[in-house]
Amino acid sequence: MPATDLEQIVSLCKRRGFVYQSAEIYGGFRSTYDYGPLGSLLLRNVKEAWVRSMVQQRDDVVLIDAAILSPPQVWQASGHLANFSDPLVDCTECKQRFRLDKLDDPDVCPNCDSKKSFTEAREFNLMFKTYMGALEESASIVYLRPETAQGIFVNFLNVQQSMRQKVPFGIAQIGKAFRNEITPGNFIFRTREFEQMEMQFFVEPGTDMEWFEQWKQLRMEWHLALGLSPERLQFHQHGAGELAHYARAAFDVTFDFGGTLGFQEIEGVHNRGDFDLTQHQQFSSKKLEYYDQLNNKRYVPYVIETSVGADRVTLAALVNAYREESVEGEDEGRVVLGLHPSIAPIKAAIFPLTKKDGQPEMAKGILNDLRMAFPMDYDESGSIGKRYRRQDEVGTPFCITVDGQSTTDQTVTVRDRDTLAQDRIDASQLKSYLAAKLVG
Ligand code: ATP
Repeated sequence: MPATDLEQIVSLCKRRGFVYQSAEIYGGFRSTYDYGPLGSLLLRNVKEAWVRSMVQQRDDVVLIDAAILSPPQVWQASGHLANFSDPLVDCTECKQRFRLDKLDDPDVCPNCDSKKSFTEAREFNLMFKTYMGALEESASIVYLRPETAQGIFVNFLNVQQSMRQKVPFGIAQIGKAFRNEITPGNFIFRTREFEQMEMQFFVEPGTDMEWFEQWKQLRMEWHLALGLSPERLQFHQHGAGELAHYARAAFDVTFDFGGTLGFQEIEGVHNRGDFDLTQHQQFSSKKLEYYDQLNNKRYVPYVIETSVGADRVTLAALVNAYREESVEGEDEGRVVLGLHPSIAPIKAAIFPLTKKDGQPEMAKGILNDLRMAFPMDYDESGSIGKRYRRQDEVGTPFCITVDGQSTTDQTVTVRDRDTLAQDRIDASQLKSYLAAKLVG
């Protein structure tokens, strides 16, 4: 049975070291979260899967890592200072604040059910502002980036020239973004500090819709390869009223989070045209054109953007993986995180069946050998059943047991998390056995 409520995921995340409320000992800091030991490995695996597919396995996309702090000119040029706002309304009855465009019924307060109790909508800019240097004056205002994309646009020429890139090519980046969201919530789904994985693909004008279609399909395939169930994934096309100020066309990849959340955006694929480069060209007075030597022409490239939240995909992977099930012949059921092996935080756990007869020594020998290749866990406490359950709950795909037979013939059992099937194999074969099953 899948999770029926996000609370089941929140509780597992806290209990098993995936995600904690930030500054919990001080009562928690509103809508910020800290990744624990297993959560940080999971998040890192999601990000590595993205880099593998977007950069490592292609020869036309390169990776950068730009600064988080940026001057107002960047956000003036990008349109964020003028346009990056959400319509905010207050309920005059219960004093709660809402984002007008996210309300089911714009005339009814979802908190107290009052009708027509909202104030006029006000535009609320989502950027976090701070000061650079010792003086808190307007001349020293800087912004925390609300998206990673602008760091790519302002580096377009640097990357194109230093890496001798020819259009079409892409620049990818993973990094923190900050938005002063009016209504953060639903755990790590919407927070004020989060991580984005963005790629801007620069193309010749006129070829943009072809590339847009290609990237749309490629991104959906990536989510499927991450193990998200096909029936939980859908495209949502932005209608004219929904399009962002820079977009010529946009599709969201949406995931069914279940419960009251249902289908929600996890990634946006946008055709940004030449909006950003043209704006930066105008505001910086630097030419941001590409010279196509072969055809002897100059142009400002169009941009296809893919923008996905690392935290939101991590939450989708957790929701998708969570299941409770009964086990044949056992009274107690089990909670399993059926994570795709490529993103599972721990790839295999090793247990000596008993703490004697040389079993712990043999198990630790195997552990030391395998941990050079895979993140491993070692557990010798409690019954073997309990140890299996602990690993099932954190998504470990394989459990290796050293038993009485192992110390005489050097074989071990390997149990599969999902099928519960056990193979007895030679301990010397473990590395290749696991490598074959763990390919991402
Ligand atoms: P929404 O409509 O949910 O506010 P958006 O359309 O503003 O999202 P984009 O600007 O397209 O989102 O950002 C790209 C991706 O970044 C989103 O698909 C999402 O995965 C992630 N993202 C955006 N805002 C947040 C947030 N506040 N918390 C976590 N992830 C976010």
